[in-house]
Parts: sequence; structure tokens; C-alpha cells
Amino acid sequence: MPSIRKHLEARERQILAPQAARSADTRGRLREEPEDDVRPAFQRDRDRIVHCKAFRRLKHKTQVFFAPTGDHYRTRLTHTLEVSQISRTIAKVLQLHEELTEAIALGHDLGHTPFGHAGERVLDELMPGGFNHYEQSLRIVDVLENDRKGLNLTWEVRDGIAHHSKGKGGSPVGMPASQRAKTLEGQIVRVADLTAYVNHDIDDAQRAGILKPGDLPKKPIGLLGQTSSERIGRMVRDVVEATFSGNLSEIRMSPDVLEATLELRSFLFSAVYENEAATVEFRKATGILGGLWEKIRERPEEFLDLRTVADEGLDAAARDFLAGMTDRYAINLYETLFIPKPWAGPYEEIS
Ligand code: MG
Repeated sequence: MPSIRKHLEARERQILAPQAARSADTRGRLREEPEDDVRPAFQRDRDRIVHCKAFRRLKHKTQVFFAPTGDHYRTRLTHTLEVSQISRTIAKVLQLHEELTEAIALGHDLGHTPFGHAGERVLDELMPGGFNHYEQSLRIVDVLENDRKGLNLTWEVRDGIAHHSKGKGGSPVGMPASQRAKTLEGQIVRVADLTAYVNHDIDDAQRAGILKPGDLPKKPIGLLGQTSSERIGRMVRDVVEATFSGNLSEIRMSPDVLEATLELRSFLFSAVYENEAATVEFRKATGILGGLWEKIRERPEEFLDLRTVADEGLDAAARDFLAGMTDRYAINLYETLFIPKPWAGPYEEIS
């Protein structure tokens, strides 16, 4: 009797579009290993990501706001889940591989630093040669997880993770082939990431009192919708329609919706990510991460992975430790190392 996996692989061949990636046709893993009896390759990768420690740490990493205490702000984990859900919605309609796009979405931000954008900028300055989160995401799944054996993911998931980021000026679609993910499933995550964050960051900025509903730019809101839900629906429909009309040669958006989405992102950069309130928080992140960077490099045997120190040097080991921290871990360690504990002497009677 054929294995359950073989049955599922056969089903992929029946129901997916010709342009979809297929588990049985994967370009393979960094190290060869036996296939699972039950789960095809991409499904197995999705599970490996969900079970890894870096994934659990996402719940205590800032999305935009510095170590927020409110329970309703997004964290990297809830952002990741929103990206995954939007990605699967698009993949399903286009008859592409839902679990491949889900695996890429769940892994895309594993390499994010504590303190969100601010933390990434600080680490970029501290680390000789710079830092960016998508390279660190790949390093986590290739090297750091599983006691430095890595998760040994398929080429398609690794390629998608490496190509999800757009930065401040990059476009989610229409990039030259060399700059985009090779699979359509990977390209979906790039556009779903932007769709998720331009909408939930508006919501969180309003929750924080940094934005009021009337502050949003009229033109893109007029086209995309007044609410987050309307806008996500509009963007998802647009991606599906534009990609279908391009016969699934690449993931596309219509020019109007793309322009409106990028306008919203520019607005968020000036009004939220780089506004004065956020700059105050940025200075705090600089102080904490800068202080920790010095201290952990002075005491590598206490804090750092000595295998990395030996193989790749002190800076690489310090980068891995710092980038892996959650917001609260970084704050706690900073307090332990830098803030003197109040001296509590013996109890004395007053009279
Ligand atoms: Mg993201």
C-alpha cells in the first residue's frame, strides 16, 4: 500500500495549478534525510517552524511599539499569524501550495531583533558588515535552531524566507526575477506581509493615540477602504485578479492598488515609524542594545555560543544572542547587568 505521503503528493498533482510548487518536486534539503510517511516535505517544514524555539519567542517581540504593556497590540507572533492567514487565502484561490506559503510566512520574521524596527537599526549599526532580519531568519533555520543543527528545511521555504523583505522603498511585486522568490508561494508572502502590516500598524497606531482616523491619507483610503478589514479584502482580491489575468507568471497587483498601498506605507513611515514619539523609544532601544552588546562581548564564556565565537568570531556570536532576545529578556538582562539593586539592610526598630 502506498504511504499516506505518496497519496497526498498525488493529490497535489491533481488539484494544484501547473505553476504551483509541489512537495514531491522539491529541490531538496541542505542535508538529505528520509521522507516522512505521513507528511509531504512542505507540510513537514511548516511543522518544524511551529515547533522551534525562535517561533515561540516571537510572542514577546515588538512589532512597532516598544515592549508594549497593552494586551491588544500586535506582536511579531500575531503579525506572523496574520501574514500566514492572508498568504493561505491567496494561495488557495490561485490553486497554489497553501502549506508551502504557510511555512514561508511562519518563518519569515524569525530573525527579527527585540524592539522592532528600532532594534534592527541599532544592530545594523553595531554589527560590522551590518544586519538585516531576513538573513538572520535564514541563519536561524539553517544553523542556530536545534542545537546548531538547523531545521534542514527545503530549498523552496528557505528561498521564500530570504526574499520576503521589501525594506522602506522596495515593492512587493514587479521586482526583477533575480530579486524575488522563485516560487509563486514565496512571492505571495512578500505581498501578504505588506498587506498585513500596513493595516495592523494603522490599527495599533490608533490604539496608541499616535494616529486619529482623520489623519489617514484620503486618496489611498478612498480606493482601499475605511476599515482594516475592507482594505485587506480589497488588496487580496486585487492580487488574485491581477495574478490570474497575468496567467500566474508571477504574483501581481494592479497599478492603482499597488500605488495606494505604497502610499499608505510611506505615510506610516513618516507618521508612525519615524515620528517623534517613536524616536524617543528608539533612543531607549539604542541604550539597552548598545550596553548589552559591549557587556556580552566582554564576557563571552558567560553569554555567547563559544562554537560560534571560535568559527565566526565574537561579533557573529554577539549578533546571534542579541537578535534572538525578546524585548523583555533584553530589558531584564540590562537591569541585571547595569542597574544596581537597592540595598536592603537588616530591619531596625524605630523606637
Ligand atoms: Mg513581516
